Amino acid sequence: MTIGTSNTEAQTIHPTNLSTLPQAQGVALRSVTKQYGSVVAVENLTLDIPAGSYCCLLGPSGCGKTTTLRMIAGHEDITSGDILIGNARVNDLPPAKRNTAMVFQNYALFPHKTVWQNVEFGLKMRGTPEPDRRDRVDEMLEIVGLSSFAKRKPTALSGGQQQRVALARALVTRPQVLLLDEPLSALDESLRVKTRGELRKLQRQFGMTFIQVTHAQDEAFSLSDQIVVMDHGHIDQIGTPQEIFVAPASQFVAKFVGDNNIFTGKVVNAIADTNGYIIQLEVEGIGTLLCRGQFAQPGDNAACCVRADRMHLEVQPTAEGQTVHNRVSARIAFVEFTGYVTRVRLLVESTGAEILYKVRSHDCISQPLQEGQVVTLNWSTDDCIFLPH
Ligand code: ATP
Repeated sequence: MTIGTSNTEAQTIHPTNLSTLPQAQGVALRSVTKQYGSVVAVENLTLDIPAGSYCCLLGPSGCGKTTTLRMIAGHEDITSGDILIGNARVNDLPPAKRNTAMVFQNYALFPHKTVWQNVEFGLKMRGTPEPDRRDRVDEMLEIVGLSSFAKRKPTALSGGQQQRVALARALVTRPQVLLLDEPLSALDESLRVKTRGELRKLQRQFGMTFIQVTHAQDEAFSLSDQIVVMDHGHIDQIGTPQEIFVAPASQFVAKFVGDNNIFTGKVVNAIADTNGYIIQLEVEGIGTLLCRGQFAQPGDNAACCVRADRMHLEVQPTAEGQTVHNRVSARIAFVEFTGYVTRVRLLVESTGAEILYKVRSHDCISQPLQEGQVVTLNWSTDDCIFLPH
């Protein structure tokens, strides 16, 4: 397999060529805290990243993702707790002894060295003998589709090509864990999408553990086996992309993954059924919403969320005095055609709160939506997720 599209010389690498790769190792964090003076960057993180998996640390700026990655790499001391790579506690090991490699956001390539020399660098530092070095650099440049660029300097490469050199330079050392700090952030949108597909293929081919920092949820969704959503130095949720998307565990996650409508209210009742609990949430100005979740204490302040694409729109407003659950009258404020999907912003008639509704544009052709029109939105209990905090 090769990555890169423009290099016709690149040969297919048979998986047996990579048989000398070390076995992937899992990474575990046990109650890890990092303080910079009085600033607590991350607090009490406990996390298991399985060997050979692709894990993304996802969260907004300042939530502690980079600090976590740097602690795993050994570029940052930890204040308390333990970090394990495989079964070994690595707290006191220097970066070079951890069998990890890092791809930096700005690539950190040596401008005066050629592509070939950049990729060779880590092997030279480790004292790998010359013939072996040559074979491994050649093989890695072939894998990333840059064999014909070997003699160029990084300044004569595009951003995407520089990114691939940075990847090759990290992978050539055959680390057990690859750490990637926002590796796609310097690329434009179309290259970002293409390169993330290549990253995923490469991770599968090598069977290596990849841990990547990103603030882009689409990137985390498309790359990860496991996403760790972080907020203010804490883990808010750990799950597969599907779990995070379909069942956010907190208001923060629901907001961060986007396109969720969040309703805050008070728990009235929680009734057990075969799939957990159906919770009645009283929302001011809207009424009782029925949502799914785990047990909730009546009287507690809480919230629920419904994804914009899981709402249904009826062109008739809700009849006066009608008692229905998960149904609200709203006035269409803005209709935005974005191609495949049309995004509709509505204002709840009784409260003025904003709701987002997303529909396939094709479905609007026979029944165009008019700004100013009053309609009813409804949604099922199964699509309404209880958010305890
Ligand atoms: P970004 O996406 O902007 O890089 P991040 O999620 O990676 O953000 P970190 O860089 O890990 O966040 O920072 C976490 C917190 O620790 C922030 O509040 C930051 O200001 C603080 N911090 C990071 N490095 C230091 C430092 N060397 N000294 C003091 N505070 C720091």
